[in-house]
Amino acid sequence: MGKLIKEEDEKGRLHIDTPMMGESLVSKTFLKKTESSEYFRMHPDVNVLKIGGQSIMDRGGKAVFPIIDELIKLKEEYKILLMTGGGTRARHVYNIGVDLGMPTGILSKLGDKVSWQNAEMLAALLAKHGGVKIGHGDHLEQLTMFCRQGYLPITYGIPPYGFFEHPAEFGSIPPHRTDCGAFLLAENIGARSLIYLKDEKGLYGKDPKKAEDLEKLMFYDRISVDELLALDLDDLIIERPILTFMKRAKCLKEFQIIDALNHPEYIGAALKGEHVGTIIYK
Ligand code: ADP
Ligand code: MG
Repeated sequence: MGKLIKEEDEKGRLHIDTPMMGESLVSKTFLKKTESSEYFRMHPDVNVLKIGGQSIMDRGGKAVFPIIDELIKLKEEYKILLMTGGGTRARHVYNIGVDLGMPTGILSKLGDKVSWQNAEMLAALLAKHGGVKIGHGDHLEQLTMFCRQGYLPITYGIPPYGFFEHPAEFGSIPPHRTDCGAFLLAENIGARSLIYLKDEKGLYGKDPKKAEDLEKLMFYDRISVDELLALDLDDLIIERPILTFMKRAKCLKEFQIIDALNHPEYIGAALKGEHVGTIIYK
């Protein structure tokens, strides 16, 4: 690190002679030179927990209250950033937008408010325990401080693509939704861990809710991202772009998907580093 900055001259003057001058910043050969052996991590003690919209929040109190009880206890021991999914209300607005032939960027703008609503609800429920809703602005630099002060910061999982959302590989549903947002933030703040709180044990060979015989279904308790990409499964428990993100990740080495709906106690176990769901690693 720091190898790109030239030395000062004999009089202590710094001449700005950047090796990036004249580069398109597109050349693969050049870009490889910017790879660092160790990346700076801004919030190395913060754990990013993404609470599912469809898998948890949409089920209301019986799903949410036990998880909240766990979080209230765990925030004393661990620094936690809670990120929220969208869920059925986002799916409904996507459905209307798709019917109207709307492109991905407009669908993205329509769906993002739902994850905000879920963040709002959790912030209200957790307010008296230090829950605080934050946006995607300056507060993200203050996460460690918030946690040290005993707060539990909550933000929406949807990344700020909106009209800048990438075209989807198939159809028009925005490919980068709240699982992606949680991944990108965890990676870029250098988080300690990333945990997805869902309603299934982890990753199966296909959607267990659509499988005839769950017993016969392949379960992956630990799988590398390369193996998972090679399997090219039709459906996944996390959004597909995450696999490419993971391949390229600089800080995150793995993440875990857990069944927090049926086992809220798995949240604490996963924070402790225990393997209680599916771990996808680099
Ligand atoms: P969230 O609300 O957390 O974003 P989703 O409902 O969008 O959750 O995605 C999780 C769901 O994905 C699971 O509840 C499961 O029914 C489904 N799913 C699809 N494919 C798989 C798979 N291969 N393994 C496990 N679950 C899968
Ligand atoms: Mg989802």
